[in-house]
Formats: sequence, C-alpha cells, structure tokens
Amino acid sequence: MHIPFNKPYLSGNELRYIEDAVSRGKISGDGYYTKKCHSFFQEKFNFKKVLLTTSCTDALEMAALLLEIQPGDEVIMPSYTFVSTANAFELRGAVIRFVDSRADHPGMDESKIEALITPQTKAIVVVHYAGVACDMDVIMDLASKHNIFVVEDAAQAIASTYKGRVLGSIGHLGAFSFHETKNIQCGEGGLLAINDDRFVKRSEIIWEKGTNRSAFFRGEIDKYGWVDIGSSFLPSELNAAYLFAQLEMLDAIQAKRMEICKQYRASLTSWAATHQIALPQLPDYATNNGHMFYLICKDEKQRRGIIQHLKEADILSVFHYLSLHKSPYFTEKHDGRLLPQSNRYSETLLRLPLYYELDPQRVIDTLIAYE
Ligand SMILES: *Cc1c(COP(=O)(O)O)cnc(C)c1O
Repeated sequence: MHIPFNKPYLSGNELRYIEDAVSRGKISGDGYYTKKCHSFFQEKFNFKKVLLTTSCTDALEMAALLLEIQPGDEVIMPSYTFVSTANAFELRGAVIRFVDSRADHPGMDESKIEALITPQTKAIVVVHYAGVACDMDVIMDLASKHNIFVVEDAAQAIASTYKGRVLGSIGHLGAFSFHETKNIQCGEGGLLAINDDRFVKRSEIIWEKGTNRSAFFRGEIDKYGWVDIGSSFLPSELNAAYLFAQLEMLDAIQAKRMEICKQYRASLTSWAATHQIALPQLPDYATNNGHMFYLICKDEKQRRGIIQHLKEADILSVFHYLSLHKSPYFTEKHDGRLLPQSNRYSETLLRLPLYYELDPQRVIDTLIAYE
C-alpha cells in the first residue's frame, strides 16, 4: 500500500460549515466564519489582533507593506526557507541579506545576525523551522538595540512556544500558513498576527484593498473610501468555514502528530546513530508542535539511497528547501558569503511521511531494514 508524504486531514465538519456559510447568504470575506476564526486565535493564544489571509505568502506581503519597506532597505533572514519569506520583501525592493543555519538545527544562526546589521537594516525575518522556535530573546534584544522590526514566519509553527510564549506573538508581526501541507489546513490560507499597536489600524486597511471598510462595517464611520495602499488579502467565507472546522480539532490534531513524532524518534534513534544520521534537535527553550519529522543524512548520496529504498516500498519521503542564496533568481544578487550549513541541509535533510491518519510503523520497519 502506498504511503504518501502528506494527506490532508478532515474533521468531518468542513462541508457542513461551508454549507452553513452559503446559507447565511454572504460568502465574501470578513463574515461569520472569518470572525469565528479570529476569535479562536485571540482567545486560545491571546493574540492582540489577527487577520485571516489567503495564504502565509499574503500575510508576509502585508507585513512588508506595514513595515513600509522601501527600495534599498535591508532585510535579514535565513537562506534555508521557503521562497515566500524572501519574495514578500523582494517585491518591495528590499535588499535581502541571507543568514546561515545553525549547526544543530536548520533554523537561522542567531549569532551571525548582528554582523549583517547596517544603518539600512529595517527588519529581521525569523523562520521557526519545523515549528521549533528561534532563540527569540537574542533576536528581540538585537532588534531593540538597533531599532529594527522582527517578523516571525510562523508558517509551520502553530501552537508552538518559546519559553512558554506562543510563536507568532513575540515579534512585531507573525505570519501563519494553512496550506494543505501544514498542521491546520484550508487548501490555501494564512493569518497575520499584529502584535504592535502601531500597526493595528493600518493592517485592516491594507487587508481591505486600501479602504476603511472594516471601520465602516463596525459603524465607526458613515462612509468608506480609498485611504491607503492595500490589496485583496482576505479569504472568502468558504475558506474560513473550512478552516474553522479544523481549528475546533486543533488539540487532537496536535496530539496525534506529536505522538507520531515520538514514535519515529523512539524507534529510529539507535538505527540513526549506526548510520551517522541525526534526528531533529529540540533546544530547551522550544517545543515540538508535530509539524515535521526529518532525518539529517550523512551526505547527499546516503539521502538518495534512503529515498530510493523507501520508494521501493511505495513510501514517499521528500527533501526540503534549496538554499535561496543559490537559487537561479538570487544567485547574482547574493553578496558571495558562503552559507555552509544552509547548503548542508539542502543536501541532506529528508522529511518522513507525517499526517494525522498515518501509522508510521511500516515507514519505521522499512527504514530499519536499510543497510
Ligand atoms: C508553507 C510556508 C510558507 C508559505 O505558506 P503559504 O500559505 O503556502 O503561502 C512560508 N514560509 C514557510 C516557512 C512555509 O513553510
């Protein structure tokens, strides 16, 4: 039987809520289910202000607009990340300065950030890879010392914490994804968390195509109009209804995914050691949120062998990011610094199947049979 890498989770209420959204007679954005999703995040995680978006990419683009990134402003971020982390700022004309990953984790090496800060630096974008927190105290201290903003790309980090604080709530802005490969899904979807009062009012305007329609709907003003730049960043009620059905199951989803990670770790620890393969490391300030379970292979050749071995058993494993500083688009723009850890993860990191319905036993047995 085929084991895919990912299989979207279904709570069973998704279609019922979509039907309800349709019967309410309003399927554009910012309706009943959008508000239910907003309340969920505000109540469960204590976010000050959140806005559903059509993707995490859009949430990051909103962040770049809110920070008023101008051509020539510098933005620091890891090279080992998804293209949207960088693209959102590239679209505004920013100069991207890529940071290497840590030796013990694919997340960015906090000790390498300060050397890249210049008077042009406007923001640091952290990526909580695999839902594992970056060392946020170090980053927030740097940001306040140099008077720059911090955006958390928390696409993979729902319900994960740093020293007990929820990820996405620590930087000035935080962005989440509900793409079908993430823990909580609605096909394509995202969320922007606005943690700094200075951005609250403008965030609603940018979200609503540069208009003050949100304030109008609340009855705060008697007509609405074009007051700023913006775009159509809000998802329809159909997406929000689907998403809410998943949010209601958040705790069960997280528990199940973490259980699978635990099983992988317990069963693979000694096998990995004999093959010089490293398993995910968790710093003591971070939590695991069951987003991902990966192997860091000894080299690229070993990774190819393991992918092939799993494939022969009809199990799909996949590698992850190609370093952005070496991408066809960016290579010419990169300042030439070598980022060896980022390259190493590009060549050796292998993600194992992980989804709610998965029984990982056959994946484990197949891996252990690998010589
Ligand atoms: C998935 C992901 C994104 C993009 O999310 P979308 O919702 O697909 O736009 C951005 N950054 C990281 C780190 C991701 O894992």
